[in-house]
Amino acid sequence: MVQFVEARRVGGDGVVNALRMTRTEWEQLQRTYSVGELVMPCCPSPAIPKLSPNGHPFFAHASGACSSSEESQWHQAAKILVRSALEDLGCTASMEEPGSGDRGRWQADVWAERGSVKLAVEIQRSYQSLRDYRDRQERYRAAGVLGLWLLRSDRYHTLCKSMGKERLRTEFGGKFPPEGHFSPCLADVPVARLELEPDPTITGAGFFSASVPQLLDAVLTGRFRCIDGLWCIDNLDSMRQALKDSRDRAAAEREAKRRR
Ligand SMILES: [Zn+2]
Repeated sequence: MVQFVEARRVGGDGVVNALRMTRTEWEQLQRTYSVGELVMPCCPSPAIPKLSPNGHPFFAHASGACSSSEESQWHQAAKILVRSALEDLGCTASMEEPGSGDRGRWQADVWAERGSVKLAVEIQRSYQSLRDYRDRQERYRAAGVLGLWLLRSDRYHTLCKSMGKERLRTEFGGKFPPEGHFSPCLADVPVARLELEPDPTITGAGFFSASVPQLLDAVLTGRFRCIDGLWCIDNLDSMRQALKDSRDRAAAEREAKRRR
């Protein structure tokens, strides 16, 4: 069941956005709405206001049925979430925004502007080669636009593998560094993993984690940076600690197994 943060009011009366309601307002909506007065953004199905087990408000299809595939629902829900979060950060934001620069044209999944800052967020759902990610990113860079890729787990994994191979080849002469953990990220492809369920979360290689607004705010202010093959905000120390903890745990488990 894909979770949407927004639903449309029937009769062209605008939208209801879960991110902009207090808990009390949300509970009141849950008590008072009648089925059919709110519809999903993806299709004409009635939208039901719900709460996740962690108390995160969202809309879901009344019957669970939607005419679009799970993948395309997820893509739309992610775009709406990112657009809403960018608006809450003071941006003018829109979806499927066409544009162009010296290196060619594009259509950004989510486009945002705040002051002189322009940001394109791509929520990539189908496979594309590392070359394609870099080409698009270069198109944005050449036009003075910041770029950000948000990928679902499987897609993120595939891209990290390609980036890691590329980094190994170009920066390490094809050999894994003798010490320490190898970090896969390339500095010209700003990327993080986005999951919507059970609650929206951002994670990434090297134990990176952030909320959606935290990440977007960091991108807008130039604080989302690639350091030694890891994309991070200002949490590299806590990421390193988490890595160390996880290694220590694995080592302790191996040791316990050996003694058995
Ligand atoms: Zn639908």
